[in-house]
Amino acid sequence: MYSIPVRLQGRLYHDSVLPEESRALRSEVRTFVNEEVLPVADHLNTVVETAEAFPWTLFRRMAELEFFGVPFALEQSGRGLRRPLCGSAVVMEELAYASDGLATIFDDHCILPGIALLSGASDVQERYLKPLVAGTKVACMAITEPEAGSDLSVGTVLTRAVLVNGSYRLNGHKRFITNAPVGDFATTLCVIEEKLCMLVVDLRTDGVTVGEPDIKMGNKVQLTADVWFNNVEVPFENLLGMHGEGLRIALRALTWGRVLVGMSGVGMAQAALDESVAYMHRRQLFGERMAAMQYWQFKLADRATEIAMARDLCYKAALRHDEGEESPEPETAMAKYFGSQIGGDMARDAVQIAGGRGFMTRLGADDTPCRVEQIYRDCKIAEIYEGANEIQKRVIARQIFGRGTR
Ligand SMILES: Cc1cc2nc3c(=O)[nH]c(=O)nc-3n(C[C@H](O)[C@H](O)[C@H](O)COP(=O)(O)OP(=O)(O)OC[C@H]3O[C@@H](n4cnc5c(N)ncnc54)[C@H](O)[C@@H]3O)c2cc1C
Repeated sequence: MYSIPVRLQGRLYHDSVLPEESRALRSEVRTFVNEEVLPVADHLNTVVETAEAFPWTLFRRMAELEFFGVPFALEQSGRGLRRPLCGSAVVMEELAYASDGLATIFDDHCILPGIALLSGASDVQERYLKPLVAGTKVACMAITEPEAGSDLSVGTVLTRAVLVNGSYRLNGHKRFITNAPVGDFATTLCVIEEKLCMLVVDLRTDGVTVGEPDIKMGNKVQLTADVWFNNVEVPFENLLGMHGEGLRIALRALTWGRVLVGMSGVGMAQAALDESVAYMHRRQLFGERMAAMQYWQFKLADRATEIAMARDLCYKAALRHDEGEESPEPETAMAKYFGSQIGGDMARDAVQIAGGRGFMTRLGADDTPCRVEQIYRDCKIAEIYEGANEIQKRVIARQIFGRGTR
């Protein structure tokens, strides 16, 4: 367990853009994070990926505290918030402050597949969305394949289904699927009759094979794995939306996901800033505290400003969405790109500030972990998944130059 520095967010950022409902949720989640996540965060952030590493106790607590109900309406057993994406963004930021791996379990369980399930018929929502919210089933979103990540089209997606005797027969191979090693079902992008479609696939059914968990650079408690489908029978009713709506459903879910990934960058950046400031107050260099060095004061003034800007962008995108804009651009792309980038920039500075200590996973002398080393490893993936930052810049560029300009 590491010692927890003073949180500076309250001094540097005023939650004035957020509605009261989201601010109340922030204090709820922060209490959970302070009392139940931070004490075990070192373990979450360094554990070796095995199916047994999945944090069942925290997962069940998040369900019990109704965090998985934050995105959903009352009729979906959700909390019925007026600003559900703002609320989800707050949960993500607070979780990522302690453990980005845990935050992504939240995102990849209730946000991506959960939002996709909203396109399902009422029976599908009953069978999958309700257990998702209750935390009795673990969900995944299976889009990426070995040869299709950023570029998703009928030609590149090789997972395919055909209709046989009233149900779909699915074949294909997905990669990097979060929660798959413990997952119950996956909303799965596939091609049916030359159109992209989204099927809900039970992962504990004949013909599904989930590979060993990937061993990753960071986000250790987030378990990812390959999933193979070999003649898997999927009920006809498990098609989400209309035939051919698969990409639209994925993109709608990813709009939520991109705001949340931006927010995870903000949460990690805030944690790295807090750690750095605590360290600079302790560390003496050339007869003065590091906190008195103007070079580093100015550097952290820059970073504190960028963190505030990124947080504002994320909440602005979330607010526009919650006020009825299904795809609020360019704010969503800006939020994902800038939030994840500031996570990386602040983490790099934090390691530099900590000197050699910042490069240590554990100090041999006393076995203490280094929080900023963990954040440095965790933050990189936010620049890649849920639409690499180059894709986000392409979306922003389209707003600048127009869609027709290549
Ligand atoms: C830890 C982790 C968890 C994940 N969880 C999931 C999950 O739950 N479900 C799921 O479906 N997928 C998941 N993914 C996959 C993730 O979304 C993809 O890795 C990501 O979309 C990038 O796809 P790719 O890896 O195939 O890279 P590619 O598509 O091959 O892209 C490689 C690089 O090319 C660059 N690039 C891409 N497009 C452009 C462009 N237009 N212009 C310039 N440069 C460009 C980017 O820098 C990009 O990083 C996960 C991945 C990881 C590592």
